[in-house]
Amino acid sequence: MAKENLECSFCGRKKPETNLLIAGLDAHICDRCIEQAHSIVAEESKQSKNQDLSSELVLKKPMEIRDFLDTFVIGQDRTKKVMSVAVYNHYKRLLQPKGKDDDVEIQKSNIVMVGQTGTGKTLIAKTIARMLNVPLAIVDATVLTEAGYVGEDVESILTRLLQAADYNLEKAERGIVFIDEIDKIARKSDNPSITRDVSGEGVQQGLLKLLEGTVVNVPPKGGRKHPDQKFIEVNTENILFVAGGAFDGIERIITKRLNMQAVGYSASKAEDRLDNENILQYIIPKDLKEFGLIPEIIGRLPVLTHMNPLDAKTLRAILTEPKNAIIKQYEKLFAMDGISFTITEQALNYIVEKAVEYKLGARGLRSLCEAVFTDAMFSLPSTEDVKEFKVTKAYAEEKLSYETIKKLKVVS
Ligand code: ADP
Repeated sequence: MAKENLECSFCGRKKPETNLLIAGLDAHICDRCIEQAHSIVAEESKQSKNQDLSSELVLKKPMEIRDFLDTFVIGQDRTKKVMSVAVYNHYKRLLQPKGKDDDVEIQKSNIVMVGQTGTGKTLIAKTIARMLNVPLAIVDATVLTEAGYVGEDVESILTRLLQAADYNLEKAERGIVFIDEIDKIARKSDNPSITRDVSGEGVQQGLLKLLEGTVVNVPPKGGRKHPDQKFIEVNTENILFVAGGAFDGIERIITKRLNMQAVGYSASKAEDRLDNENILQYIIPKDLKEFGLIPEIIGRLPVLTHMNPLDAKTLRAILTEPKNAIIKQYEKLFAMDGISFTITEQALNYIVEKAVEYKLGARGLRSLCEAVFTDAMFSLPSTEDVKEFKVTKAYAEEKLSYETIKKLKVVS
């Protein structure tokens, strides 16, 4: 057959009408038909993937969830317990058969975690998402603004979740959203120490619909930069929202409430029992309201839990105990260069001491370690005959001069 008479065996277009005509054994296919066939294949495989999703979700019992958390997160026992139950109930709710006529509807167990920065709030949310194999989006409430203001609309939260789920809508609809710094959108009037703009309450209002479960039009690429994009409808009914915040100053609110309660009873007895080092453990939803969260938001975050401050013992454990503990990571890095890395107990304690002294918290541990090990990490890989690196307290002291730590304090 003459070349120009060749045609696509699928659509019948003649070769000159196509950009490309590929020959098979007894047939030909044009570029357009290839594209069409490819989109059919993609659609089919997406559907079968979605069908697999339910079987992918492994429901773990609360104790198993807690055990998993234990391998990555040190301490915070109360929060681990509360989170394990909330997550378990949430996913039980997901797995309950739809369309049954029983009128008991399990409601969402969105969570709010209150605790100083660097105490493990994000780590807990991340660890749970990792265990359940669901997408996780971490968003900062401070960038959210009421629609129409400079900043991001609340819908952008779901854009992040879609991205985390590789745009697999079904996966995203069962994901976890961690909203950090929720305290920064507190209403100003109730808390004069918050210096944020007035839109805080508007953002809270915007979040309401997301938290309770509704269908939201989400711009897949986010933001207002791409006005032409088609919206994706995301149903938030089965998305678990975890909010976290430091709620600076909330201790005062809690103490005030506790003191007022105590007046009615035997004041001295109640005070005796108070653990003043960790006032957060007495937090109740009313304190969040007093702080400036609107009651509707508090109602949609029904599980309230607190994080304990990290003491020296916890910091010491964080250095070596979690599955991917900081020290284990350095061991691995050095091992890749054939160097055996050891650090003495005294050196570890010294690093913890400095973290406590300069209030650097868990994040500071990493920076302190970097300061101690950087010189060795720089020179040892090129030093042929050194196969061992032992860090003693004296070595750590030498590397952590006052000047170095002062610099760390600025960044952490
Ligand atoms: P937050 O969200 O409360 O500000 P993060 O979860 O981001 O704090 O914690 C910062 C880092 O500190 C984590 O990546 C982790 O390495 C470490 N960390 C904090 N708390 C703990 C903890 N309880 N157990 C283990 N590591 C922790």
